[in-house]
Amino acid sequence: MNCKEADKLIPLFLEDDLDNRELSEFLSHVESCADCKEELTIQFLVRVGMKRLEDGNTFNLRNELDALLVDANKRLTARKYLVISSYLLQAVVLVLGGTALFLALFLR
Ligand SMILES: [Zn+2]
Repeated sequence: MNCKEADKLIPLFLEDDLDNRELSEFLSHVESCADCKEELTIQFLVRVGMKRLEDGNTFNLRNELDALLVDANKRLTARKYLVISSYLLQAVVLVLGGTALFLALFLR
């Protein structure tokens, strides 16, 4: 992913509107690119900052962005596990189905 692509994804990231592949590429780009991290920080501050200003709570905005990034990484990992476990589940169902079929034929 280049900076232009990452830049376009920033608003989508803040809306939590990226699919797994985009999110994964976006996060690794932002982690390795100071310019895009800065741009993300600015857009995040503008977005969340407006809201926090209304609430009168602007102290922890930087921490919030860090937390958001950590959280996004966690969610990405969780989603990957979910995909893997659904494959595993399918495999288990296939094996059980096969076994049931085998027993049904064998016990007939
Ligand atoms: Zn970049």
